[in-house]
Amino acid sequence: MSRPVVDLAMRKATKQIMVGKVPVGGGAPITVQSMTTTKTADVEGTLAQIYALYAAGADIVRCTCNDLEAAEGLAQIVPRSPVPIVADIHFHYEMALAALEAGVACLRLNPGNLRKPEEIKLVASEAKDRGVPIRIGVNAGSLHPELYKKYGNATPEAMVESALRELALFGEVGFDDVKISVKASNVPLMIESYRALSEAVNYPLHLGVTEAGPPPSGIVKATAGIATLLAEGIGDTIRYSLTADPVEEARAGRQLLEALGLRERKGLDLIACPSCGRAEIDVIALAKEAQRRLEETGYPIQVAVMGCVVNGPGEAREADLGIAGGKHKGHLFIRGKIVRVVKEEEMIDALLSEAEKLMEEGVEARLAAADPNAEAEARADREALFELRGQDANLSSQKIERIRKRLGGTE
Ligand code: SF4
Repeated sequence: MSRPVVDLAMRKATKQIMVGKVPVGGGAPITVQSMTTTKTADVEGTLAQIYALYAAGADIVRCTCNDLEAAEGLAQIVPRSPVPIVADIHFHYEMALAALEAGVACLRLNPGNLRKPEEIKLVASEAKDRGVPIRIGVNAGSLHPELYKKYGNATPEAMVESALRELALFGEVGFDDVKISVKASNVPLMIESYRALSEAVNYPLHLGVTEAGPPPSGIVKATAGIATLLAEGIGDTIRYSLTADPVEEARAGRQLLEALGLRERKGLDLIACPSCGRAEIDVIALAKEAQRRLEETGYPIQVAVMGCVVNGPGEAREADLGIAGGKHKGHLFIRGKIVRVVKEEEMIDALLSEAEKLMEEGVEARLAAADPNAEAEARADREALFELRGQDANLSSQKIERIRKRLGGTE
């Protein structure tokens, strides 16, 4: 429901490809990807995970295709999946051909471990005949040995050259239905590699920090790399590579895009103050409880939980809805305007109930339905708190006064 203030949607122009029915690049919404952790041969288990990823915000899901059973599994998974399926291929070109036979929407090839030109060209040729795109998935940890020798290490130049070599082979069979990734677990290397790649080609780019590790540090690393590039207009599809339930990957990807204003809000955005000495409530406990209960509703709204009524409603005036802690009371506000004052023990229920009405009736109607006494009651509550705590907990005005005197100010 909340409105963008700054627009990061300016993207570098890239060619558009279709991964099944999902467009990637060329101005299409940036997509979220994840990868299943089940054995692909376990059709029901893999489909259950794909549905969970879809519910968490994944637009495209990758499954490994590492043996015959996996390829056979793909043939059953593809027609029942709610999202396009990408087959992940390492070492064996036959697995790429089998995955194409299974009807996947895209292949991912790693140029570092599928190296024979004739095999690569055969796969590209077959993909071309079927209209299936390929992701050239370069990885800093598995470059062609020649490139390590030439550059001495996995440098941005080495990563880009790996992608360009693969593109050249594809070009020999007239195939360019591609997207490209140059992932590294080292974030600065990843950023520089994508920047260089973005200069060199106009194919859609799949962003990711590989092997980012478990949350929360994995999420921080992946976000540092992916968000930096997205803010520069680079990147058309993203994946968080976390050592965690892949649902967390999909959720993180979706949340990042929503936070950057690059995708419509699909779920809750809970903002909460960090709390401080002014807080009249246990902000951490209240925010957790609000998050748990609001997430269950699936409402796509921004809700604020603020520790005090002195600063809370003003600081969170952009939120669709919020609650701020007063003295044994909660001030419920919509877009910064107090609409009701409730007892402390009723804060969460009041927040939930107002969220439901907000979704049903809209902001204007709920502002019109505000308790006419709410503002006056809130003001009295704030004034009582000023009396009790003082308006300036940090004694800032006294300090400023002393500084001015010392510097010979006039006031
Ligand atoms: S809203 Fe109030 S309690 Fe929360 S950080 Fe700001 S001043 Fe402190």
